[in-house]
Amino acid sequence: MTTVALKDVTKVFPDGTVAVDNVSLDVNDGEFMVLLGPSGCGKSTVLRMVAGLEDPTTGAILLDGELANDLPPRDRRIAMVFQDFALYPHMTVGDNIGFPLRLSGVEQGPRGERVADVASALGIGDVLARKPSQLSGGQRQRVAMGRAIVRRPGLFLMDEPLSNLDSGLRAELRAEISGLVRELGVSTIYVTHDQAEALTMADRVAIMRKGVLQDVGTPTQVYGRPATLYVAAFLGSPRMNLLEASVYVHLDRYVALNLGEQALYLPWDDIRARAVAHYHGERIVIGMRAEALTPVAPGTPGDVLQGRIRYLEHHGHESLAFLDIGATAIMVDDLGGPVTETANGSGRFRRFGHVMQRLTGRGSTDA
Ligand code: ATP
Repeated sequence: MTTVALKDVTKVFPDGTVAVDNVSLDVNDGEFMVLLGPSGCGKSTVLRMVAGLEDPTTGAILLDGELANDLPPRDRRIAMVFQDFALYPHMTVGDNIGFPLRLSGVEQGPRGERVADVASALGIGDVLARKPSQLSGGQRQRVAMGRAIVRRPGLFLMDEPLSNLDSGLRAELRAEISGLVRELGVSTIYVTHDQAEALTMADRVAIMRKGVLQDVGTPTQVYGRPATLYVAAFLGSPRMNLLEASVYVHLDRYVALNLGEQALYLPWDDIRARAVAHYHGERIVIGMRAEALTPVAPGTPGDVLQGRIRYLEHHGHESLAFLDIGATAIMVDDLGGPVTETANGSGRFRRFGHVMQRLTGRGSTDA
């Protein structure tokens, strides 16, 4: 219905704050794009520029391929949903949802029908006569959604729409919102600092840090193949293990990654060996997800990482093992016996098979 393109967009506020720094981003027709990043990274400013509530300092914003920098907000066919719902307290739910239609002159009859359709799609058909103060937080958010979709906009802009709700309701509504938006086929830009929300709802995620776009891709791409060390460390819980290693190429045999007192050996037929070979003699950072580290019995032959478990953190069906080599592994509880033994201080070493998700150069991971 609508495509959005940001071309080299920068926003500098009058006090000199560079809120958005040379961002280029495309949102395809019908795509659910999530802007993710910590507080203050510039997500809302991007959204407000797309809405026309803020002018870019430099760069271009295109809607459906047309330059929209000077297009007034009301001509952008955009609907916005904010975290504070912003419902009119004196109006009923039905009147709140139908308000944008009334503004654009739709007659009462067709307006009522459209409101009833939208309300039933959102599961709030039975509260149309109530006032917002008589609703739960989740119902209020559905009314805000209803008011946004009633006019069949070309683009949804949502700024942390779930952040005022409790966690159970958030999970429920995030499935509901992404399902509804996909059904409607409306392009959406959704801002959040919650990575679970981003990874579960998005077609693609755009990750920002200090005004700069770090990575854009499907949830699987940004999680599995992060473009920068920052993204590698930011996404995922527990945080990705990032270990420094020196690379030594032993021609025709293998590539060794020296990690202090131990080494990992990658045979040449392993594609990861070829990926790091050109860093011969250099120090690099290797990234390994905790779930990619599998415990193996002591004495298991082959390529293993070895570490002493400093402590275990139990999470029901699995435990996180924090190792003295600066890495975290996930251990499933049916491996319980020996793991517990070690945690009790028997001092036994455990050995870990390694899987490297990605190998990157140097960079900073601080927020
Ligand atoms: P949050 O998740 O906390 O809303 P955000 O990622 O959406 O954060 P923005 O609201 O876009 O971040 O703000 C980006 C930066 O621009 C911040 O440093 C913020 O303080 C600054 N900023 C926002 N609005 C203004 C303004 N009107 N004048 C000056 N600086 C501003």
